[in-house]
Amino acid sequence: MSVKIEKAAGTGFCFGVKRAITILEKTAKEQGSVETIGAVVHNKQVLQRLGILGVTVADSVERVRGNTLAIGAHGVGPEVEAEIHARNINIIDTTCRSVHRAQAIAERLSKAGFFVVVYGDANHPEVKGILAWANGKGIATQNAKVISELNPLPKRIGVLSQTTGIPSSFIDFVKGLLDTTFNKDSELHVVDTICHDIRRRQASAQQLAEKVDLMFVVGDHTSANTNRLAELCSKLTKTYLIETADEIKPRWLKGHKHIGITGGASTAEETINEVLSRLEKLCGS
Ligand code: SF4
Repeated sequence: MSVKIEKAAGTGFCFGVKRAITILEKTAKEQGSVETIGAVVHNKQVLQRLGILGVTVADSVERVRGNTLAIGAHGVGPEVEAEIHARNINIIDTTCRSVHRAQAIAERLSKAGFFVVVYGDANHPEVKGILAWANGKGIATQNAKVISELNPLPKRIGVLSQTTGIPSSFIDFVKGLLDTTFNKDSELHVVDTICHDIRRRQASAQQLAEKVDLMFVVGDHTSANTNRLAELCSKLTKTYLIETADEIKPRWLKGHKHIGITGGASTAEETINEVLSRLEKLCGS
């Protein structure tokens, strides 16, 4: 019996990653090389390809050797921007517009007197950058209890999400805040900052995962949005998160009749197609 293999809608780079890569490729071509502050995207294959073109990663502003520095799609906080300006380095800003929006909201809420809560992974560069715009008046967490244990408990709380958050989990988090922090004179201001591309990508991956009996999520193991896709799909069907086609073990395919593929926002369509070709080969389709 033949095996059906289907790709989810909307795979390939999201608009933010596409834009960042285009700018970096153009700059590297014009200047011969360009440094980025931290990894411009969380995808090893993409970084390797950019490296060949002359795009290199600097761990910190101090370590920058040239006079042009690119900020990646995840953005940075105001203090990093100030550090770059202080060194008179030219900035090429590839921060995604959805991330810029979240940063501006964090800044606005903080200036308006809200304690800013960023729902997301506190160690992720995007979250660190967004929180930095709250000028020290906030916290990043995925656990509402952390907020309820703050002493004193903030009366005015402004909440936003990491752009790659899962909408239903964000809503649960906000409900948790209402349950645990809301009392007399409390004010809770919630802003939806989850990116549209991520919503669509998650929805199409879930639709496909509901139909198939095996799902492959393609992307870097360190990529936040790739991990969230895998988390969502694994609730619906057997799911593997892989970075490249080479990782597929033939024994994984045994007994499966309908296989789905999706990919993270920084996974090239080319990598997805390599996975598709390998699956077709292994399944004899
Ligand atoms: S996932 Fe969304 S917010 Fe992140 S870079 Fe892509 S388009 Fe921008």
